[in-house]
Amino acid sequence: MRAISHFIDGSSVSAGPQARRGDVYDPNIGRQQAWVELADAAMLERAVASAKAAQPAWAAMNPQRRARVMFEFKRLIEANMDALAHLLASEHGKVVSDAKGDIQRGLDVVEFACGVPHLMKGEYTEGAGPGIDVYSLRQPLGVAAGITPFNFPAMIPLWMLAPAIACGNAFILKPSERDPSTGVRLAELAIEAGLPPGILNVVHGDKVVVDAILDHPDIKAVSFVGSSDIAQQVYARGAAAGKRMQCMGGAKNHGIVLPDADLDQTVADIMGAAYGSAGERCMALPVVVPVGEATAEALRAKLIPAIEALRVGVSTDAEAHYGPVVSAAHKAKIEQYIQMGVDEGAELVIDGRGFKLQGHEDGYFLAPTLFDRVTPDMQTYQDEIFGPVLQIVRAPTVEAAIDLASKHQYGNGVAIFTRNGDAAREFVSQVEVGMVGINVPIPVPVSYHSFGGWKRSGFGDLNQYGMDGIRFFTRTKTVTARWPKGGPVTDQSFVIPTLR
Ligand code: NAD
Repeated sequence: MRAISHFIDGSSVSAGPQARRGDVYDPNIGRQQAWVELADAAMLERAVASAKAAQPAWAAMNPQRRARVMFEFKRLIEANMDALAHLLASEHGKVVSDAKGDIQRGLDVVEFACGVPHLMKGEYTEGAGPGIDVYSLRQPLGVAAGITPFNFPAMIPLWMLAPAIACGNAFILKPSERDPSTGVRLAELAIEAGLPPGILNVVHGDKVVVDAILDHPDIKAVSFVGSSDIAQQVYARGAAAGKRMQCMGGAKNHGIVLPDADLDQTVADIMGAAYGSAGERCMALPVVVPVGEATAEALRAKLIPAIEALRVGVSTDAEAHYGPVVSAAHKAKIEQYIQMGVDEGAELVIDGRGFKLQGHEDGYFLAPTLFDRVTPDMQTYQDEIFGPVLQIVRAPTVEAAIDLASKHQYGNGVAIFTRNGDAAREFVSQVEVGMVGINVPIPVPVSYHSFGGWKRSGFGDLNQYGMDGIRFFTRTKTVTARWPKGGPVTDQSFVIPTLR
């Protein structure tokens, strides 16, 4: 069986047969396809030692030369897009076209990081006082680490590692142990692109190595993306150890549909956002909130045939809209949520349970599910289900709809579907959610803005990529300089210096 090892100092590293292992499945066939080695603190120590040794020379290299490595990294990812997408899809289960989107959104951040000479430029004030100039510069932190979820095995590692290494840090990636191969392949390509060994290491594992990362004194910053409870624990532990932390959590994004929305376009948008990647996206749209009963009825009438026309298939089926979910355990959890929804009194309009894909009966497939008349008190509304399950929550007014999204524990993304600019503007202003779409169902910001949610969707204050990514992986040093001109010595002063 294929073994997936760590990647340290430019090559594959194993602790040998005594190492703990995790099973890696192919969700399309429901069978184990590989095992991945799970690191302990000693393996992390090797990765940190290699990163620490390599980082000073990388940071000292001029930023344009570091940018050239990033350009070559981008070219190599593009050249390997097809193979990478198949590898990613075989462990995650998303369809290959969507896997390419996953890689492309990460590639956008690599492209952004190619601008690092400009992005790291500081600020300068000439003559801030008599003969005094003030300037600030950005310096890398040293060694940083990233801990990533299963659902975007390329995009999220690239969100973190591209700005981190472009800014002159060394980076240790701890990918999800459920689909670990893409992270390793990306690191191999980075080395092929000219990145010095040690600047990007990949260490696999579970809580054991995550805790070792959080406690390690030589790791200065940790970026985490995953579920909220773990994000919060990771944030607290890392912050207590004095690290810079950014921890993105779960989501339950609402799509609010006003009576004047273009319903055909809205339904087309909701379908992809609710069911794409089997709903396993933190920016999925698992809740739609039609405003008014007439809108609810019209929306429901259009959603039903659109859902019935969806095709569920294996990752390599070019016609499939989405593939299997990631694991048998996750499939069982989604099915339990569907039963809970029934028990709580929601109306199960379309039941996706019990679906078997012919020829792939053991794959982790679920047909799409639709619930109507879901209410805010239901557990199935409050929790993130992370599967192909869409819930309709009817709201009497636009204010009630905004209130729903604002009061939800998660605040990652939200969308409004309307032709009314005034209503949309008010919505943007009022809603307590970090990323807002106006007639855009999945408002993941482009790579030169930043990604981050509010409330239990994000812990820490700097978002992913864009200028926040550069800020997170650098620290600012501010210099106040005066060069001696000669002449009389100025008087001693025991008062805090001021400029008048
Ligand atoms: P997860 O929380 O189970 O795992 C995330 C990472 O944490 C993995 O690398 C995992 O190995 C590690 N981990 C797991 N248990 C741990 C523990 N007890 N202590 C320390 N580390 C631990 O998340 P997942 O199931 O891989 O991913 C899905 C979740 O991620 C969803 O909740 C989704 O909304 C969220 N997500 C959020 C964003 C965002 O940007 N807000 C993006 C993608 C996914």
